[in-house]
Amino acid sequence: MTNRYILKKDHLPSLLRRLMKEYRLVAPVKNEHGDTMFSVIDSIDRTSLDLDSQPQGSIKPFLFPQQEVLFDYQCDNTAHYEFNPNSSAEATVFFGIRSCDLSAVLYMDVIFSKKNRDSSYFQKRNETVLIALACNEPFNNCFCNATKSGPFLEYGFDLQFTDLEDRYLVESGRAKGEEIIARFLPFFTPAGEKDAKGQYQAFLEARSHFKQQVHVDQVIKRLKSGPIADEIWAELSLRCQDCGGCAYVCPTCTCFTITDLEITPSSGKRIRSWDACTFAGFTRMAGGHNPVDSRSQAIKQRFLHKLLYDAQDHGRPSCVGCGRCVGICFGGVDIIRFIAMACD
Ligand code: SF4
Ligand code: SF4
Repeated sequence: MTNRYILKKDHLPSLLRRLMKEYRLVAPVKNEHGDTMFSVIDSIDRTSLDLDSQPQGSIKPFLFPQQEVLFDYQCDNTAHYEFNPNSSAEATVFFGIRSCDLSAVLYMDVIFSKKNRDSSYFQKRNETVLIALACNEPFNNCFCNATKSGPFLEYGFDLQFTDLEDRYLVESGRAKGEEIIARFLPFFTPAGEKDAKGQYQAFLEARSHFKQQVHVDQVIKRLKSGPIADEIWAELSLRCQDCGGCAYVCPTCTCFTITDLEITPSSGKRIRSWDACTFAGFTRMAGGHNPVDSRSQAIKQRFLHKLLYDAQDHGRPSCVGCGRCVGICFGGVDIIRFIAMACD
């Protein structure tokens, strides 16, 4: 059972200003080029907070950076190695995360704790407070209704804000959310029946405004029933230019590669960088052999992983319906197109 409060919209800047005294604040910001990105905010007054557009990227890079040093190492002349893990993590409030992106964080929590708990990820994750913003109006390519990850969340958030015109309905879903409410109590008043009804109305309207009809349950059933035609993979592979854009913008893509960077003959760094299963070199082995040696196999791996393997392993697909891969792919190899082709 979540607790519900009201925050007047006029009071939001003051609340964020107060939060910034205790946390690093990350929120969607419109930059000088007109792009909305999740950014670290230094000053609320000098920042163009944008809660109306979908940020181009998710908060994935803050928890799982595109490139990060896992540890550095030194070796003495007796060949004894010393490893110094990179253990930096800052207490951070993420404000204005859409339901899809918050669902993606829940997915990353599972992936990074699967076998060996990933300390680099969880150092950052344990220091986060997640404040969601329910989607009153889905964006053009969104289909989180079909992936059951929005437009409003029932769990997983520390706080969830719903825009009710002059005020936000604020739900606390976890202890960290309750702590924020308790610490900044003067900003909040208890929500009433009218507010709960307003939120339900906003939810119903949002549900009716999706522009994409995407049959996620149907495609999962179809993929479980057996292989799909090779021609589909072949057509998609002809369109793909191996740019990696789809994996980089995807909030649930978590493939990475590891490299060691020698600084001196006796010291260096181990670096983790994003990788993508569509990249030609993703499965190439030392010596040059590649067990997944064709573009169509790589595309197949991407879509089967998201829609079949994760549905089998975790009971739900790892696509959260954010629609970003639809906008980014100049070849039109997006998950909506694939689902339509597979269900045809
Ligand atoms: S599917 Fe599209 S976005 Fe992804 S790598 Fe291929 S061309 Fe790039
Ligand atoms: S596959 Fe596409 S729509 Fe699904 S979560 Fe990734 S970027 Fe979003």
